Amino acid sequence: MSSKEKTEGQVLAEELFYEIPNIAEKAPEQIEKAAEFCEGYKKFLDAGKTEREFVSTAVSLLEENGYVPFETGKSYQPGDKVYSNNRGKALIATTIGQKPLNEGIRLNIAHIDSPRLDLKPNPLYEKDGIALFKTHYYGGIRKYQWTTVPLAMHGAIVKANGEVVNVCIGEKEGDPLFCITDLLPHLAGQQSERSLKDGIKGEELNIVVGSIPYVDDQVKTPVKLMAMKLLHECLGITEKDFLRAEIEFVPAYKASDIGIDRSLVGAYGQDDKVCAYTALRAEVEEKAPTWTTMTVLADKEEIGSSGNTGLNSNFVGYFIEYLAEMAGVNYKDVLANSICLSADVNAAYDPTFPQVYEPQNSCYLNKGCVLTKYTGARGKSGTNDAGAELMAKVIQIMDDAGVYWQIGELGAVDVGGGGTVAKFVAELNIDVVDLGVPILSMHAPFELASKLDIYNTYKAFAAFIR
Ligand code: MN
Ligand code: MN
Repeated sequence: MSSKEKTEGQVLAEELFYEIPNIAEKAPEQIEKAAEFCEGYKKFLDAGKTEREFVSTAVSLLEENGYVPFETGKSYQPGDKVYSNNRGKALIATTIGQKPLNEGIRLNIAHIDSPRLDLKPNPLYEKDGIALFKTHYYGGIRKYQWTTVPLAMHGAIVKANGEVVNVCIGEKEGDPLFCITDLLPHLAGQQSERSLKDGIKGEELNIVVGSIPYVDDQVKTPVKLMAMKLLHECLGITEKDFLRAEIEFVPAYKASDIGIDRSLVGAYGQDDKVCAYTALRAEVEEKAPTWTTMTVLADKEEIGSSGNTGLNSNFVGYFIEYLAEMAGVNYKDVLANSICLSADVNAAYDPTFPQVYEPQNSCYLNKGCVLTKYTGARGKSGTNDAGAELMAKVIQIMDDAGVYWQIGELGAVDVGGGGTVAKFVAELNIDVVDLGVPILSMHAPFELASKLDIYNTYKAFAAFIR
């Protein structure tokens, strides 16, 4: 027997065991394709750092590709493409399918809000010669990560006359940036005794706005006045306008290639714009779907999907109800026959912190998109937990399309946990399972994702709505 020949046990193991392959080994030809795909992704990330910006960038892409605003009372034909913009912060895009609507819809639902620092309603103050903004963090952040990071100011201000001022300072070449300070190590002895969770406290996330005073000894807060004067010159606003505003501070840097092999994308807000972008691309490119498609980009996921631009509102259900009425079919039949990918990221196995993962059920870089049967915490509490039938269906779709995919839990049992929009989709009586991209440093100001995984997630969404 030559050493090349397999033993009986090896043959049997190959027949009976299942091992998830590494894409770079199994399909190296995808490396270049994935890199090319991610060039568009990086541009999109830079243009859409907030939910408002992501929606307006997405609407432009949709309109370029023949989508028109959805109108109730109209009748639509297979292949027609429409979109519905929910208050500039959430979006639904639909392509009418060949099959009648009561046979169900294929939905990909991602979210486009990401953890960040929001301004408080009354943010500007002066302390000891420095003008600062008070913030209230949005979503689950590790606060210490947000100091000494260059920040950009984004958002919208609605003035008394109704005029909307779109704010974006810190993204153009030459723009000033903003920053939160931290102590120097020399004087951080006491602070270093704090637990990491409290290393920086919420009320310490104060953003430096300016330091030059307006020279007039009759003014009590001259540095604040100078800062307000410059904000007025640049945005046309007064202090009262902050009360009519949504201002978000996000990292000012652009999306980049990471690693000497350029295998990863590093950027702010990949949770969950990586799924939003891949789902949107799949939607736009599908011209004649079998079932009616629906790509939803939701807001507010990071704070529990509350609010009328989040998935825990009825905006998606109402949209489907309109479609059902227009098609003359029963809304509840449409829901019962629909299936949905709750398109969200999962935690990629990190070799530096192996203790929080269970290696056999974790997702890894370069092994493809991750199908997450359940999320939740403390014994699957609060999860949708997809049924075996739906798992089988989604796996079949991906296998048939040659998509590289893997399975993943969010960390080891009882280490932590989390949730997605899946449970809100399930409330509509739609079959739903989570699928997305493994992420390193999730929720940090700079997150990492593998280009091969991003590309295969796009392929999964495309196959699902074909
Ligand atoms: Mn997410
Ligand atoms: Mn998240």
